[in-house]
Amino acid sequence: MARSNHDEAEGHVPIAVPFNRPFIAGKELFYIAKAVTQGNIAGDGEFTRLCARWMEERFDVPHVLLTPSCTAALEMAAMLCDLGPGDEVIMPSFTFVSTANAVARLGARPVFVDVREDTLNLDESLVEAAVTDRTRAVFPVHYAGVSCAMDPILEIARRRGLRVVEDAAQGVDASYRGRALGSIGDLGAFSFHETKNFICGEGGALCINDPSLLERAEILRDKGTNRRQFFRGQVDKYTWVDIGSSYVPSEICSAFLYAQLEMTPVINASRRSKFEEYLTRLAPLEAAGRLRLPRTPEDCRSNHHLFYILLPDEATRDALATHLRGRGVLAVFHYVPLHTSPMGRTFGYQDGDLPVTEDVSRRLLRLPLFHEMTVEEQDRVVDQIEGYFRQCRQRPAA
Ligand SMILES: *Cc1c(COP(=O)(O)O)cnc(C)c1O
Repeated sequence: MARSNHDEAEGHVPIAVPFNRPFIAGKELFYIAKAVTQGNIAGDGEFTRLCARWMEERFDVPHVLLTPSCTAALEMAAMLCDLGPGDEVIMPSFTFVSTANAVARLGARPVFVDVREDTLNLDESLVEAAVTDRTRAVFPVHYAGVSCAMDPILEIARRRGLRVVEDAAQGVDASYRGRALGSIGDLGAFSFHETKNFICGEGGALCINDPSLLERAEILRDKGTNRRQFFRGQVDKYTWVDIGSSYVPSEICSAFLYAQLEMTPVINASRRSKFEEYLTRLAPLEAAGRLRLPRTPEDCRSNHHLFYILLPDEATRDALATHLRGRGVLAVFHYVPLHTSPMGRTFGYQDGDLPVTEDVSRRLLRLPLFHEMTVEEQDRVVDQIEGYFRQCRQRPAA
């Protein structure tokens, strides 16, 4: 898969501009110290509650449950959809493995649908044709913090009786027609992994938009016990009532996260300005047919989670990545389409099944974009991209 920041030993040129750099936004270390001195660093203490309340208010979600990762939140969501063997779930193939794992680990079948050429999101016009009498849910993924066309997807889901679970790992604090991503489907999953917009190392959250799912969600999250009800005095002892797991994050992570959430306006502004700087400075190369820049539909407000470019072909993409790496800039790509992965093939998929997904995954390159990226670092990325295309100016444009 994509190369990480950890492969510095591979190249001879030191990495001057990493792909991502985790950051302290404000009071992270102070809040961690506070959690420790208050004597509670296990789960569901003050900071976990503060983070959940903050997100419930800002995103207009009835209930937010913090989890140790988005992967965990997606696993809970799949269980809450009551998925099992024989069931089918519609999702893109152009996504991170966790979207499909959540479904496959319950014995259900991921049904991969192609993406739109503009946003690289699930193509809503292909969803209806993928529905069968075994379909139980749709898992749209908001790629790069730009929303899927949720209204058409919700309309199909309502008509066909399907659950909708948003993989909003990349979509925290982005919106669609005024609604926060994660708040639109029955359930929504966020990630606070160190590569996302708001971070705590490893972390996530599950948005429960259908309140009828809350009680079971709390039980699954707490090892399959009714401990939450016990703490609220609703039952007089707590015990094993369902098949759950350990989906409660540590207060240490929540304390870190709360400090990040408090700095949302600052983090948003910094990502937006870097994203727009790339758009402006790479526009001449797009006009010359050298690459394609990201698109954001009118009804979507992006959180500028990532900046990608699409090159004319795989050879150019690989050559540009190598050129950048040789000059200290780490640009990476993703995703190996899930339907052509070794696991994907076990569901009967093969090359050629999803042409747009296969095409963009060969041509896409992600540029460094992180909160503390300096003007000099971004200059270097842009200069080196321009340098690459100057060097091959003799060759015909795409
Ligand atoms: C990052 C990501 C995940 C997984 O998030 P974790 O918090 O690392 O488990 C899932 N889906 C998508 C689309 C992602 O980008």
